[in-house]
Amino acid sequence: MTSQTAPPAIPGPDQVRRAPKVLLHDHLDGGLRPATVVDLARECGYARLPATDPDELARWFREAADSGSLERYLETFSHTVAVMQTRQALVRVARECALDLAADGVVYAEVRYAPEQHLEGGLSLEEVVEAVDQGFREGERLARAEGRRIRIGALLTAMRHAARALEIAELANAYRDAGVVGFDIAGAEAGHPPTRHLDAFEYLKRENNHFTIHAGEAFGLPSIWQALQWCGADRLGHGVRIIDDIRVREDGTVELGRLASYVRDKRVPLEMCPTSNLQTGAAPSYAEHPIGLLRRLHFRVTVNTDNRLMSHTTLSREFQHLAGAFGYTLDDMQWFTVNAMKSAFIPFDERLAMINDVIKPGYAALKSEWLFRQTTVTSTSVAPED
Ligand SMILES: [Zn+2]
Repeated sequence: MTSQTAPPAIPGPDQVRRAPKVLLHDHLDGGLRPATVVDLARECGYARLPATDPDELARWFREAADSGSLERYLETFSHTVAVMQTRQALVRVARECALDLAADGVVYAEVRYAPEQHLEGGLSLEEVVEAVDQGFREGERLARAEGRRIRIGALLTAMRHAARALEIAELANAYRDAGVVGFDIAGAEAGHPPTRHLDAFEYLKRENNHFTIHAGEAFGLPSIWQALQWCGADRLGHGVRIIDDIRVREDGTVELGRLASYVRDKRVPLEMCPTSNLQTGAAPSYAEHPIGLLRRLHFRVTVNTDNRLMSHTTLSREFQHLAGAFGYTLDDMQWFTVNAMKSAFIPFDERLAMINDVIKPGYAALKSEWLFRQTTVTSTSVAPED
C-alpha cells in the first residue's frame, strides 16, 4: 500500500492575486497609472510626454525600461516626477497606489518616494509628506469600503547623488508617528557610495529609527558590505549581488563567503525585485535569478515590484514569474510573505498580528480550497479499497 500525499499546491493566477501579500520595495513615482500620468500632465500643462494615449504611454514606459539604456530608463522618471509637483497630484497618486495594491491582494506595503523631487511647484518638504500621507489614508479607506484591507507605511528616500540625506532623515524622524516608517537611499550606486551619507545613518541610529539602502543591484559586494558594516542598514534594497560571495561546487554543495554568511546568519532582509533586475541587467532571466538559490539556502528573501509602471508588473505577477521559473507553491509564497512581514519597519507586535491574524489564515483558506478541489477531482478515479 502506498501512502498518498497531496502534490504541492502550485497556485493559479487568481489564487496568487487573492493570497495576502506584503510589499517592502515599491517606488511611488514608479507606480502611476498611465491614464493618471496623462490626466496630471494635462492639468499642470506638462507637454513633454512621449504619448498622450494611455495605452501607448504604458507601452512607451515599458519599452524605455526594457531598452537596456540607463538614459532612457531615467527619462521615464523625469515624466512621472514632472506631473507630481502639486498637493492634489500627490494625493491622487498615493491614493491610487493604495487602491491598486489592495486590488492586487497586498495587505501591507511600505512605499517609498524622495520628497526632495517634488518641490518644483513650490511645496515644502513637509507639505509633500503630508499630501502623500493623505493619499495613502484615503486609499486605505476606499479600499476598505470595497471590502479590501491594506495598510501602507511610507519610506522617505534621499538621493545618493544629492546632499540632503541628513535633512530627509530628520524629516523621516519627525513624521515617524504620522505615517512614515523609515528611510531609504536610492540612485546610481557607481560613484555614489552610501558612506557619503554616514551622518544621516548615524542620526537615524541615535534616534532608534529604521532604514534600508539600495545596494548590490548593479554594483557588487563592496556596496552591500558598506551598506551593512559602515552604514548599519536594517535591510538591503535588491542585494542580488550577494550571489557573488556564494560558490556552488560541481557536486552541488555550496560555500558561503564571510559577507554572505553574515547576511544569512543575521537574517538581513533582501528586498528582491525580479523583473526590475532583468531590465537593469542585474539578472539574466527569471530562471537564473539568484532568488532561487537564496531561497533554497534560507536567506531572508522577500519579493517586490520596484516600479510597477516601468516593469509593467504587480506583486502577483512577480510571484507568477517565480512560480513559473522555480515551481513555487502556496507554501513558498507564504514563506516569502512571512519573511517580508517579519522584516517590515512597523512595531513587532503589529507585525506579529498581521502574520497570525491575516497572513496565515489567508494562506490556510487558499490551501484548503485547493485541497478540496483536488479531492473532488481525484475522488472519481480512486477505487474504494484504496
Ligand atoms: Zn528601488
